[in-house]
Amino acid sequence: MRGDDMLVAKEKAVEVIKRLKKLYPEPKTALNFKTPFELLVSTILSAQTTDAHVNKVTAGLFKKYKSVGDFATASLETLQQDISSINFYRNKAKNIHASAKIIVERFASKVPKTMDELISLPGVARKTANIILFYAYGINEGIAVDTHVRRVAYRLGLTKNEDPVKIEKDLMAVIPREDWGNITHFLIFHGRNTCQAKKPRHSECVLYDICPSRNI
Ligand code: SF4
Repeated sequence: MRGDDMLVAKEKAVEVIKRLKKLYPEPKTALNFKTPFELLVSTILSAQTTDAHVNKVTAGLFKKYKSVGDFATASLETLQQDISSINFYRNKAKNIHASAKIIVERFASKVPKTMDELISLPGVARKTANIILFYAYGINEGIAVDTHVRRVAYRLGLTKNEDPVKIEKDLMAVIPREDWGNITHFLIFHGRNTCQAKKPRHSECVLYDICPSRNI
C-alpha cells in the first residue's frame, strides 16, 4: 500500500473497530474450553466443521480425556473413534495425539506461549496459534484469518489479497496491536450475522457508509 492509502486504511480500520466493538463487546470464541490444551484440541477439530458440532463432541471428549497426558497416552485408534463424527477425523486425531505427546515431552505438559513453538506442533499453523495465544493467554501476536475474516476484510477494502498469510500482514499493518485478537472476533461475528458470503445484509450493516462493497 502507498503512504496515503495506508493512512486511509488505518483510519478506516479504527472506525471499523469502534463500530464493531459496540456490536460485539465481549471477545470470546464460540468454542468451549477450560484449558489451553482443550482450546488447541477444539481449534484443530473446528477446521471444516461448525463450532456447534465441535462443542457437542468435546463435551464428552473432555470428560473422558481430562489432561494433555490423557490424550498423549490414549490409543490413536480409540481417539479416532471418539471424534469420528468430525470431518477429517483420522488426520485430526493424529495431529492431536502427536501434539499432546510433544507437549508432554518437550513443554512439561504446558501448551507453549510463543508462535514459533506453537507452529512446531502438528496440525498447528498461524491461524490456530493466533487463536490459542489470544484466547488462552491474552497475547496479541498476530491476527487469525479464517474464511469470515478473509471475506469481510476484503469487502471492507482492508486488504486486496486472498492469501491468509498476506491478509494477516495487511491487517497487522493497519490495526493497532491491542486489537489484533479483537479484530478476528469482530469480523467472524460480523461475517456470520451480517456480511454473509451469499447474501450480505448491506442495509442493516453498521459499516454501510464506509464500505466500498455496499452495492455488491
Ligand atoms: S456494507 Fe455489505 S459488504 Fe460491506 S461490510 Fe456491510 S454487509 Fe459487508
